[in-house]
Amino acid sequence: ALAGRGRFLEALNPEQRAAVETIDGPLLVLAGAGTGKTRVLTTRIAHILSSGRARPWEILAVTFTNKAAREMRERIESLAGPGAEALQWLGTFHAISAKILRRHAELAGLKSNFTILDTDDQIRLLKQVLQAENIDDKRWPPRALAHQIDAWKNRGLSPDHVPAGEAQSFADGKGKKLYALYQERLKVLNAVDFGDLLLETLRLFRENADVLDEYRQRFKYILVDEYQDTNTAQYLWLRLIAQGRHNVCCVGDDDQSVYGWRGAEVENILRFEKDFPGAKIVRLERNYRSTGHILAAASHLIARNEGRLGKTLFTEGADGEKPTVTGVWDSEEEARAIGEDIEQLQRKGHDLEEIAILVRASFQMREFEERFITLGLPYRVIGGPRFYERLEIRDALAYLRCVAQPFDDLAFERIVNTPKRGLGDATLQVLHEYSRRESAPLMQAARVIVETEELKPKPRATLRTLIADFDRWRSLIETTPQNELAEMVLDESGYTQMWRDDKTPEAAGRLENLKELVRAMEEFPDLAGFLEHVSLVMETDESADQRRVSIMTLHGAKGLEFETVYLPGWEEGLFPHQRSLDDSGRAGLEEERRLAYVGITRAKRRLKIFFATNRRIHGLWQTTLPSRFLDDLPAANVEVKEASGGSQYGSYGVSRFANMDSYGSSYSTPGWKRAQTARESGASKPARRTPPMIEGEVLAKSSASARFVAGARVFHQKFGPGTVANVDGNKLQVDFDKAGRKMVLESFVEPT
Ligand code: ATP
Ligand code: MG
Repeated sequence: ALAGRGRFLEALNPEQRAAVETIDGPLLVLAGAGTGKTRVLTTRIAHILSSGRARPWEILAVTFTNKAAREMRERIESLAGPGAEALQWLGTFHAISAKILRRHAELAGLKSNFTILDTDDQIRLLKQVLQAENIDDKRWPPRALAHQIDAWKNRGLSPDHVPAGEAQSFADGKGKKLYALYQERLKVLNAVDFGDLLLETLRLFRENADVLDEYRQRFKYILVDEYQDTNTAQYLWLRLIAQGRHNVCCVGDDDQSVYGWRGAEVENILRFEKDFPGAKIVRLERNYRSTGHILAAASHLIARNEGRLGKTLFTEGADGEKPTVTGVWDSEEEARAIGEDIEQLQRKGHDLEEIAILVRASFQMREFEERFITLGLPYRVIGGPRFYERLEIRDALAYLRCVAQPFDDLAFERIVNTPKRGLGDATLQVLHEYSRRESAPLMQAARVIVETEELKPKPRATLRTLIADFDRWRSLIETTPQNELAEMVLDESGYTQMWRDDKTPEAAGRLENLKELVRAMEEFPDLAGFLEHVSLVMETDESADQRRVSIMTLHGAKGLEFETVYLPGWEEGLFPHQRSLDDSGRAGLEEERRLAYVGITRAKRRLKIFFATNRRIHGLWQTTLPSRFLDDLPAANVEVKEASGGSQYGSYGVSRFANMDSYGSSYSTPGWKRAQTARESGASKPARRTPPMIEGEVLAKSSASARFVAGARVFHQKFGPGTVANVDGNKLQVDFDKAGRKMVLESFVEPT
């Protein structure tokens, strides 16, 4: 190990080396992306170990993800030699807290075999709490309460610390009391939730000076990566331990703080100097990751944010290729363009492992996944299931399978009580018994059972309605386009509503995914064809050690790097995301810009940004405006692809790119035509799919004011012109000139 020691220090620049060799006392490394912060942490640990200052189990090292912890362990091993597995205290805040809590469970009022609840368990438990208090869980959904409790826990607040005024938002001021009851229930169950891992450890330390002292003595050195994204509870936890020996080294970048929505506090960076007087601050300015043009693009963009500590970055590397900005027609073309581009790189011998597509919202992934499956391009989705494996997509597919295949028991079981409709275990048991006895499918069993006295009146009535619903949906298969039928099913079953009522941060993304699912169905001839496609897609499994392209969210890409990075979907409303524009004002927008900065700075050599002129957002085809972040890129360092003629600096909308789109072109057609801007020309309707441009939410229930009356002439994108025969809520019966009588959704037709 000693032989290696000199060598790994030599691989650092003077500032990095200072950060590694300043072993004693508090140290804050505050530096931009790619400057070697993580490398400093890793080398520092190797240095501490090989100089004999501490043994592996005396080092506390916190990473942001489990994956990052694994990688750090491997790096340390390669630097300092074997023994890194003895770094027992290298992990995420949660993992480390869980370990501490198990060792002192008794003191925390738990048994050492306590369970850690996942979100589903947490919701179920909260529901029981609400019921016991006679609170209507339709009006006050347990998920909203879970979200509120998590937020309190992120801030380090146990029930008795929640300020009185704050509890008023939930259930007429009962939030605080419910929180306390929930904590009591957890204790009885010998369980903790995720937030508790930190909070209970914090309490353990506060109430047991001897335990706290033990850890203060044990951890000779403390190191924290991605420090800018710690929340208050994590900060308090850290401070408590670090105030023992004061040997704490945090590295971070305020410009990469992207978890504000989850309670992260950038201010923790500023508090560091106050809480650890005499802290040494090291700034790293040389970026080793990216080429000159890429770095210039990133620096220029982030300089637009006001709330930042400010820092400079430079590279001694080459300027390299300019990042490109490409306008495409729609998301399909975007996926096609990126797919072709990757195939070209592949042909030139580039490693697929060094290529990533970073999206703002997870619904964007589907188009890429399907394109890559078609191309046979190996890919992996990092940080989440693949599109068709997501919870809400599986649920939706189960509904559709029940419509198409009434004997699909697995599908039926999955959705019979999702959303909750009072058809719980007792009902299912009755159905199962009958189904076993008579070897009948569950749906068939249900049909028979509802005519008997086997079930209580309420579930019987509910089940009868459900069967009737399925019969009705099934009767529409022949006459209703499959995507519209899917929308009806999700809407009328209450499934969409379930997620609308859900107040967790994930709910909005799930709704987006559902809309994306409905959109995807357009491309298939019928429902059966679509379901067949899905089952084939689901089968292409991942063989272990193939090189593959990574698809992930920008949030998930923090700390990573790739030779080539694609950033699709740079459009207003998607990126910056509509939510950040709607409710959080400037702070939200700045967080989005930091996310853009994270995305750009993942690229080592090639950066390719895309925006589409048409995208279905929130269920609607929209003519989109290029992202304002494109304007934040320095013209001198960026190549605008395929834009021909005219000035890029239009006076329309938020972006100079607003004047550039790919109207009337396809990716394979060279020499893209420049549109006069969609607004100016009024040519806002995408020509290829001619989706409707209707205000309002497609998945929403029909509005009271009917837009159509019997006798009206309408135009439908698939069936062409026709005459309305009947109006039933948001559904229209239309006699189409060519296709005959069909049932369609109001939102899919236009008046003519
Ligand atoms: P991020 O903010 O994105 O987490 P970071 O500051 O943690 O970035 P690292 O990931 O540690 O940066 O380093 C970025 C890249 O630069 C890595 O590939 C790393 O190996 C390389 N690097 C860092 N320091 C040096 C150095 N002194 N000499 C050569 N390469 C270096
Ligand atoms: Mg890092």
